[in-house]
Amino acid sequence: MIFTRIKFYYLVLVCILFSCEEKSYFEDAYCIENVNVIDPIEGLMEGMNVVIKGNKIFQIGKQEDLRLSQKNNIIEGGKRYLIPGLWDSHVHFYFDRELALHMPELFLSSGITSVRDTGGAFLYVDSIRKNALNHPKTHPRVKIAGPLIDGNFNVYNGSFLPELSIRTRTVSESIEETERLVAQGVDFLKAYEMLSPEQFEAIAAIAARENLRLAGHVPLSMEITHAISLGLNSLEHIKNLELEAVENSDSILQQRGKMLLNKSSLSGRELRGNIHRAQKQFAIDNLALEAYYSILDSIKKYEAYQVPTLSIYKVPIYKIFREPFWRESFKLLPKKTMKQWEKNAAASDDEINPDQKKFSDWIQSTTGEMAKIEIPLMAGTDTPLGYLTPGFSLHYELELMVESGLTELQSLRTATLQPAMYFRMEDSLGLVKKDYIADLILLNKNPLEDIGNTKDIQAVIKDGNFLDRNILDEIQKEISAGVAVSALSK
Ligand SMILES: [Zn+2]
Repeated sequence: MIFTRIKFYYLVLVCILFSCEEKSYFEDAYCIENVNVIDPIEGLMEGMNVVIKGNKIFQIGKQEDLRLSQKNNIIEGGKRYLIPGLWDSHVHFYFDRELALHMPELFLSSGITSVRDTGGAFLYVDSIRKNALNHPKTHPRVKIAGPLIDGNFNVYNGSFLPELSIRTRTVSESIEETERLVAQGVDFLKAYEMLSPEQFEAIAAIAARENLRLAGHVPLSMEITHAISLGLNSLEHIKNLELEAVENSDSILQQRGKMLLNKSSLSGRELRGNIHRAQKQFAIDNLALEAYYSILDSIKKYEAYQVPTLSIYKVPIYKIFREPFWRESFKLLPKKTMKQWEKNAAASDDEINPDQKKFSDWIQSTTGEMAKIEIPLMAGTDTPLGYLTPGFSLHYELELMVESGLTELQSLRTATLQPAMYFRMEDSLGLVKKDYIADLILLNKNPLEDIGNTKDIQAVIKDGNFLDRNILDEIQKEISAGVAVSALSK
């Protein structure tokens, strides 16, 4: 009897000791206690503790399993929601270089921890990428394509439109310029609309050899399934898909071929405009469903990523930039840009062009169809074009994804896991998982209940650096004042 009692006390003592030992202390780290984690694969995991050390998620576990000693540097999660940092997969720093000075901070303060620049002069976008690489804790990650590689009549040639592209007149020039970009170290390539099929094929071959993603618009000289079979593995704006989704698409392809000879020596911008006017609306009004779904099947077969950029259609077409909630976002911009955008928005009318509306709606329904068959989608905006406030507009893009038929979790994946997979970084980025890079956002409300809750940000964590609401507010104040941001160096 006595023996049993001793044994009992001994056991209690062991239990107490053991449970004390079980509480872990993490040196040079901080812990977010009692937080609901939303992982793009696992979904919602309630009541978690997350330990961040250096730039990584060092430990993650349920509160009862990963018990934290009070000696730790603890941030109370307060049942908030922790999601991976977001990507905007379609941005242009080069478009407005004055605004671009503040774009990295605008992104970061809205929880955009990575961006993909889809076209701009190499040295310029490379300088922004370098800055980001040198200051990973205070700048969003930047992936660049350099300039668009376009054909003989290049669209973005610096007159009327900014010089976002390089003109390549022949196949050998396309090869030469593409090789140059590869040697300079771009992260992916972007092919544009005025290339010939031969030029496109040559660029695609280099991309494949270098294991680089090839983004772009479907060249007007080709059809989408052809471009995808040659290696177009991310399509921006679903551009020109509809031109093959009609009966006898061959005949309108031939018509484009004739127009592309450009007998009247138009500029690339005018020529592309004429072709779009001649065919796009016709295609939307004459869609052949069998052709349409067979195109979607090809996209799925080749796992070609789609960046529908729903906002660059919907915001200007539906005149959403005139609505009070959108104009409120202009207050985040540097004063000069804010005034200009506000003036333009006020001067614009409310009229919605029915053809354009039909097109925008079609882009959204196509995005929904793509999601149904699990074509990989990435959220991108085209900011700062079309009054798309950098950062803010990505959250709207996520809402439009849901409006198009994606679930909230699918929508989150388009800005987290999918872009990480696109850049083959899915083993280190895009999930809330042990050993992953700590690019995270702490949200006040559950985005799986309402995707709009991604805007309700309590803190942004970039490369392990915890930026709380006060710092984010200070950053935003400094941006609006148009002064150099000092809040980040605190
Ligand atoms: Zn773009």
